[in-house]
Amino acid sequence: MAGAGRVSCIFHAKIYGGTGCLTRGLGAAEINNPMASDKIPHSQIFDFVVIGAGMAGASAAYFLSAEGSVLMLEMESQPGYHTTGRSAALFTEAYGNAPIRALTTGGRRFLIDPPDGFAETPILTPRGALFVGRDDQMAALDAAYDAGAEHLDTMQRLTGREVRELVPVLREGYVAAGVLEPEAMDIDVNALHQGFLRGARGRGAQLRQDARVTALTHEGGTCRVRTGGEDIFAKVVINAAGAWCDEIADLAGADRVGLVPKRRTAILFDGPGDIPFAAWPAFIDADEEFYARSESGAIMGSPADEMPMAPCDVQPDELDIAIAVDRLQAATTLEIRRIIRSWAGLRSFVGDKTPVVGFDPKVAGFFWLAGQGGYGIQTAPSMGRVAAALAAGGDVPADLKEFGVIAADLSPARFGPGAAG
Ligand SMILES: Cc1cc2nc3c(=O)[nH]c(=O)nc-3n(C[C@H](O)[C@H](O)[C@H](O)COP(=O)(O)OP(=O)(O)OC[C@H]3O[C@@H](n4cnc5c(N)ncnc54)[C@H](O)[C@@H]3O)c2cc1C
Repeated sequence: MAGAGRVSCIFHAKIYGGTGCLTRGLGAAEINNPMASDKIPHSQIFDFVVIGAGMAGASAAYFLSAEGSVLMLEMESQPGYHTTGRSAALFTEAYGNAPIRALTTGGRRFLIDPPDGFAETPILTPRGALFVGRDDQMAALDAAYDAGAEHLDTMQRLTGREVRELVPVLREGYVAAGVLEPEAMDIDVNALHQGFLRGARGRGAQLRQDARVTALTHEGGTCRVRTGGEDIFAKVVINAAGAWCDEIADLAGADRVGLVPKRRTAILFDGPGDIPFAAWPAFIDADEEFYARSESGAIMGSPADEMPMAPCDVQPDELDIAIAVDRLQAATTLEIRRIIRSWAGLRSFVGDKTPVVGFDPKVAGFFWLAGQGGYGIQTAPSMGRVAAALAAGGDVPADLKEFGVIAADLSPARFGPGAAG
């Protein structure tokens, strides 16, 4: 374990092929570099600085803390304040494109059986996901079945009658058939996030809150990270700033990857008084026009909206709330009379909807961990491991390769210059 605030020389040798580190064995260029001088306190020097302590930054810090010294910088007073704290908390292996599904399945074992002491309660609990479709949505249901069947042999095709046996409120004239993923789970997002943060700290990583990064430069083989009037120095900066990742790239002088934050709205409403609903599977429209599942004695629903927005502390829009109510009442016999709570979060995507993980092709030491979209919770164990392995100069872990995780699929190098927009 590297001591917090000290650069690991092993790490330096691994990445840069040399034997030195920031404070000892410096090359000529570094000796002339004031950042590398003894005048800089060790408390300001790290192997890795992680920008953002949401699920992405926390998972990366957890795995990176086994490789070197780590500092997480989070602009809010609560890590998880933005998208991570606003998720629908579902784990489904039938969701997203092939790289997402590989990352999700590759992380299942960690979520089911995390390391000792990681969490006091189970991170995953049984739920099931029921994809439902009208007569005109059979192709979308086939696609959901095929996506799940790639990694699972338990996917089931259901008739309309079988669908209603599972979720009796789904309307007979609306839902024609379904696909059941029995192994889909609820994720305890807070337990997972706190597990990563606590585990990272246990290995010496530091977290600074209310620490917005305002400038980034790369000088003499070192990244200088400005936060709150102080300069921090690191060999590698991990850009895990969620919806703000392209803005962080601007600070670093890297090309944007064309990240688009999209608002997604959720509502919590009373369930039916006369039918038990706590054990229903989550039900998801085959074309993702709505979804719902029980939560804390009520029902959480979403219109599955995707409104492009600038990065911000996003709030729900009344129209999206009304659309959620309308779509859920059209598909079910639920009567939504009282909305207990509503919220919105930003799901950030690049054009191919695949996360961006890897060193920037242009700016040395600048590492991307962006574009988690609607999958950043369920993919976090794999994404954190891949990010840590690549950022420390290694390769995608062999077990994840077997699940189909390929570094080139995730690499920021897949975006040519000018791809932003
Ligand atoms: C309604 C909804 C439902 C969802 N459902 C699911 C689901 O069922 N399953 C699933 O897997 N995923 C789901 N997601 C997606 C998931 O929540 C995200 O993919 C994930 O939370 C992204 O994590 P993150 O760490 O990248 O982003 P964030 O949690 O937003 O973290 C980024 C952090 O960076 C910080 N930051 C930004 N700029 C700076 C700066 N300059 N300096 C310092 N810090 C900075 C921010 O304050 C923030 O805390 C859902 C999302 C929403 C909104």
